Amino acid sequence: MASTRTRGILPFAPPNITDDDIDEVVAALRSGWITTGPRTRLFEQKFAELVSVPSALAVNSCTAALHVALSALNIGEGVDVITTPMTFCSTVHVIEQVGARPILVDVDRATLNVDPDLVARQVESRKRGDRRIAALMPVHYAGQPCELDPLLDIAAAHDLAVIEDSAHALPAWYRDHIVGDVSHPSVRRAVAFSFYATKNLTTGEGGMLVAAPDVLEAARVWSLHGMSRDAWRRYDVERQYEADEDAAWRYDVGLPGFKYNMSDLQAALGLSQLPRLSSVHQRRREIARQYVDAFEDVESLEVPFVRSDVSHAWHLFALRLNLETLRIDRAEFIAHLLERGIAASVHFIPIHVLSYYRDRYGYAPDDLPVAWREYQRLVSLPIYPQLHDDDVEDVINAVLDVVACNRR
Ligand SMILES: *Cc1c(COP(=O)(O)O)cnc(C)c1O
Repeated sequence: MASTRTRGILPFAPPNITDDDIDEVVAALRSGWITTGPRTRLFEQKFAELVSVPSALAVNSCTAALHVALSALNIGEGVDVITTPMTFCSTVHVIEQVGARPILVDVDRATLNVDPDLVARQVESRKRGDRRIAALMPVHYAGQPCELDPLLDIAAAHDLAVIEDSAHALPAWYRDHIVGDVSHPSVRRAVAFSFYATKNLTTGEGGMLVAAPDVLEAARVWSLHGMSRDAWRRYDVERQYEADEDAAWRYDVGLPGFKYNMSDLQAALGLSQLPRLSSVHQRRREIARQYVDAFEDVESLEVPFVRSDVSHAWHLFALRLNLETLRIDRAEFIAHLLERGIAASVHFIPIHVLSYYRDRYGYAPDDLPVAWREYQRLVSLPIYPQLHDDDVEDVINAVLDVVACNRR
């Protein structure tokens, strides 16, 4: 049995929604509580347990989680934040939005994660400059954790915060730690996850932040209008009927905060998805293994490199083309796959060639040569648990056929 195709095309990343998921959302709708409430609190607790931290903050996107993390860490006007060009634009947008300046540092060719040696060099070279680097914002590209130990060492030595964009890395492990475990003796850390429609776990739209307790509480205030923690309790149904000075209607606002809270409808979906995260991950790993087995000896293809000290979340399977062996470029390769019924994508168009960043900071494509070169070879293949073995075979056959028909 093959997966559902739309007009004969195997989709790139359809959302993974079961009948149980739908029932849970309906139950939330019927509960009489549809904004942030008991289901959101429970989802935060369960998620915190999953990544081995005491607490978590549910918000309405990963972008929101990154934004409130920067705000909670007081990162804003006059400071710089080091990040990667190989990401979705919102990672970098939030740095701009708080008034800080993003510094793009090139990636490691093998993993496409930010290169710790280049980060160290950037930090060293700026020691005498007039602007301070305040934070590192690495991205766990495709679901493979970055080299966190060297990055945390740099952060500890230079008093930088580390905010990880973990939109792809659920679940993933770096050495003995699950990504999201923010325990570290001397670095202020925050990790942001995405529950966007296509991500490994979805709430339709949604995100989660984990951080040290004080940072997390500050982020919680930023995420809901800047209302104080006591005000947050106005969502406690029982207290609505208390009449003392702690009454439900009383609140204070200490900051011009955002409106980023998760709703119980989203949390209901998240709670329903959490128990199958590990089987979903298992299936993603199997598919990645099948692709690697099929492609690793093909001259025109380069399969993803996986470090031996990580466990990969396999949000993306980013194949690379050895273009010198082919008569077609990457765009044509994707068009040929589509002709064979397979939808593919590209992750990512490097940030520095997007017109806003190119024009604002005067980047040329070759200023970040690794990101620019590798971008031109990247093709993301479908990888999601609804794929059946014969779908995976269809993808493999289509890729091999495009290669065979277009060899130089
Ligand atoms: C999806 C994604 C985001 C944004 O997630 P939202 O939940 O849609 O805000 C951020 N960074 C990366 C790397 C992503 O892939």
